[in-house]
Amino acid sequence: MRKIAVVGRGTAGSLAAASVTRLHPDSDHELHHIYDSRIPVIGVGEGSWPSLVQELRQLTNLPHETVQQRLNGTRKYGVAFEGWGRRNQDFIHYFTPQQVSYAYHLSADTMTELLHESSRARHIDAKVLDITRVEGGAQVEFENRTTERYDLVFDARGFPRELHPDRHIEISFIPTNTAVIRRCPAIVTEDPNGPILQHTYTRAVARPHGWIFVLPLTVHTSYGYIFNRDVSGLAEVESDFDAFLETDGVSEFEQRSVIPFPNFVHRRIYDGAVARIGNAAAFMEPLEATAIVSAQLQIGMVLQIRLNRPAENLERDAPVVNRFLVNNTLRYGLFVGWHYSCGSRYDSEFWRHGRDHAWPRYRKAADPARVDCDALRRFDEMIELMRQTVIDKSDWNRMCAVPLTSYCQVSQGLGC
Ligand SMILES: Cc1cc2nc3c(=O)[nH]c(=O)nc-3n(C[C@H](O)[C@H](O)[C@H](O)COP(=O)(O)OP(=O)(O)OC[C@H]3O[C@@H](n4cnc5c(N)ncnc54)[C@H](O)[C@@H]3O)c2cc1C
Repeated sequence: MRKIAVVGRGTAGSLAAASVTRLHPDSDHELHHIYDSRIPVIGVGEGSWPSLVQELRQLTNLPHETVQQRLNGTRKYGVAFEGWGRRNQDFIHYFTPQQVSYAYHLSADTMTELLHESSRARHIDAKVLDITRVEGGAQVEFENRTTERYDLVFDARGFPRELHPDRHIEISFIPTNTAVIRRCPAIVTEDPNGPILQHTYTRAVARPHGWIFVLPLTVHTSYGYIFNRDVSGLAEVESDFDAFLETDGVSEFEQRSVIPFPNFVHRRIYDGAVARIGNAAAFMEPLEATAIVSAQLQIGMVLQIRLNRPAENLERDAPVVNRFLVNNTLRYGLFVGWHYSCGSRYDSEFWRHGRDHAWPRYRKAADPARVDCDALRRFDEMIELMRQTVIDKSDWNRMCAVPLTSYCQVSQGLGC
């Protein structure tokens, strides 16, 4: 494990490069950080989970306060759902312990900058044509450069061009596939003397064509309309977005991008020599901000195994790590898809599609025979647990990607 490559300089690749720098015990290891500056990063991804707070502190060696300010960040204590479910009641999904544990709302570009400062790597600006496993490692083939061989390669090249059933598991029970991103003026006031301590929440507001996220940063507020382009046209979504901003009192905005996205997990995230991470490994719509936390897990597990286990275990470890990562992503997928199972305050085509057509596919899509893991059984167990009249104390810490407390809050809030 002396020569490592990270391909991609988005959030996932930058996290991997900083993690290798921090965790590799030999300071003379060789790390190549490869990216093609002509291919842009996604650059959204502004909500997170509490584990990122600790991780950024460790990776940067900076105090929490400094990290938060560098990220233009606010403290996210959970997600505030508006108009979801059958109760017609707004509710908050708090991190646990409630009002104590927080994550960041952050600017994606400042996070990658911060991570680059914490990485020690040789930077190579070149297009990668292929990454393949070879005896004892992996090789990276470049455009206009000679091929290089590495002991481990992190592939963080972003979304796959297309999904293929042999390589990808489609999370078809999540009913959205496109985002419109807008940037609006900040609604929290920056404090020149220190980080903002105010508790903030990502708002997830149900709308006729999907839902809108509202993420407060100190420099701007990020808005995104998440919808299904096969159900609603872009023009009607933009028009409803305008109406929403108007009622929210936002008079100006900058149109950022329209991003189509797949909901999927790669069947082979890690094979012992190549580790797919970030959007190259898996993605699902951002309702519960599961992308950065998944990248953290992918990078952390692969590095811990490769740095701490004897090399002779490599072939045996790889499928175990891979199955764990696929399993965990599918569990996130089931948790996120379940949010659509009770509809919303809108009886629109989108919400009927989500509740009556997309979500009911979950049993078939996550069938263990198709996905080679027990995510569905674990999800069923959580639902079963919540049906009991008394939840035994020994079950309070049960998890299925997220803790039982998260399931209970969402179940109560949605009314299902
Ligand atoms: C609408 C939306 C909202 C989101 N919100 C959240 C959120 O709130 N929270 C969250 O955790 N996540 C969120 N995400 C996910 C977030 O986008 C990802 O976590 C993050 O962008 C990780 O992307 P990445 O680094 O995997 O890929 P990218 O950002 O796509 O980076 C890919 C990198 O690979 C390089 N590259 C690509 N091809 C080649 C090649 N052939 N050769 C060399 N280099 C190459 C590119 O130059 C680039 O540097 C959101 C995503 C979307 C679409």
